[in-house]
Amino acid sequence: MPDLTRREFLFKTMLITGGFLLTSCEDEVQEQDEEPDYESPGMLLGDYSSKRIIIIGAGLAGLSAGYELAHAGHEVTILEARNRVGGRVHTHRNDFSDGHFAEAGAARIPPDHNMTLGYADHFNLPLDPFYPQSGLFVDFTEDTRTLISTNDFLDGRPWPTSVQHKYYVKIRGGTDLLPFAFAEYLSDKIQLMTPVESIIQNSNEVVVRVSDSTEFTGDRVLCTVPLPVLNRIQFSPQLSPEKLDAASGGYNYAASTRVFLQFAERFWASEGLNGWGYTDWPEEIWQPTWDREGSRGIIMSYLRYNRSDELDALSAANQLEHVLNRWENVFPGVHDYVEHGSSHSWVQDEWSGGAWASPTEEQYEALEHHMGEAEGRIHFAGEHASDYHGWMQGAIVSGLRAAKEIHESDSYFI
Ligand SMILES: Cc1cc2nc3c(=O)[nH]c(=O)nc-3n(C[C@H](O)[C@H](O)[C@H](O)COP(=O)(O)OP(=O)(O)OC[C@H]3O[C@@H](n4cnc5c(N)ncnc54)[C@H](O)[C@@H]3O)c2cc1C
Repeated sequence: MPDLTRREFLFKTMLITGGFLLTSCEDEVQEQDEEPDYESPGMLLGDYSSKRIIIIGAGLAGLSAGYELAHAGHEVTILEARNRVGGRVHTHRNDFSDGHFAEAGAARIPPDHNMTLGYADHFNLPLDPFYPQSGLFVDFTEDTRTLISTNDFLDGRPWPTSVQHKYYVKIRGGTDLLPFAFAEYLSDKIQLMTPVESIIQNSNEVVVRVSDSTEFTGDRVLCTVPLPVLNRIQFSPQLSPEKLDAASGGYNYAASTRVFLQFAERFWASEGLNGWGYTDWPEEIWQPTWDREGSRGIIMSYLRYNRSDELDALSAANQLEHVLNRWENVFPGVHDYVEHGSSHSWVQDEWSGGAWASPTEEQYEALEHHMGEAEGRIHFAGEHASDYHGWMQGAIVSGLRAAKEIHESDSYFI
């Protein structure tokens, strides 16, 4: 299987997209005589006065903003409710045998997501093709199984307007390596298991109070909390009516649940299948172990919308049986080889409450431009506050936009 460095990948993409905008600071920096001390795809420019900045949430929006603000000389503190960084980037690493892992959240990267690819390159994270490069894919539509050749599948698109399957990549070793890379630099600035409960601002400063009543005082706050759980924080003064509306269900979020099943053998290979497929449900079937050594394999059902809600209503044991029974039609023999399984619902996830922002056209028109709007000393970022709902690119682009706002706010050049 070919390994793609980001440079090779960008080059191929430029050919494909006719030079789609994929430049980073790297390209400009090469023309300078001297290498600067620090460069990154979203580096902040200009010497502004140093500020105390409190970031809420260690997902990619908070981490990318924190990374650039800290590099620009600001005093950064990141408060995270969970016991891990990454938020909706979550690689399940402990549920499987033989060192196998699978993604509960972000997994594939399209070729035009220049910031996601740019930071992967910045941290020297190698990329691999996302989809298998050989074997037959299964299309299970109207209860009929059809086998699709590798080339036909790779030339197709996951959604009508998106790029072809063959151009998607993934981060080798797991998507969580990207948030981990940001967090390594920020480690002494991140406080895990520290849910924020209230934010009080006045004209001089902002006070953030967390669940054990500790208070943090800053000049600026960046809030990257997903809308379905934003109401768990008390703001004083209150947020704008638009943000309150969005946080009270006025801005829809998609439901998504992933079900992982581990099999003792990759029995599907005897039929020439690669363990991947799609169905006429809002569902994709992935075999994340397709490029890994070993006889065991994991297959995953990636359910969305109403099918995710249906699954969430079942008990854990029934969820697995439900998926296995259906898969007997897709990969006959699943019951003979299954070892165990697990699932992850993003609606039931305590600190997400949904998979990604998915507003109706009406909601988008009315509220979209308010999502990233600063309110006094409080700035907002996150995939919901970007043009890339449901993508890491959205989290990073919005984080960098907010970082720039904060960097340049109520300041003077020094
Ligand atoms: C099922 C699924 C599949 C996806 N697939 C892809 C994909 O293939 N490719 C891709 O690029 N993107 C994908 N995405 C989207 C991508 O994962 C997200 O857009 C991105 O990770 C969101 O980052 P964020 O920082 O905006 O939010 P989050 O990652 O949700 O970060 C917010 C953080 O805030 C924390 N928090 C919440 N409340 C509080 C509080 N009160 N106090 C302190 N901390 C708090 C949360 O714990 C969380 O860590 C997928 C997402 C899902 C759910």
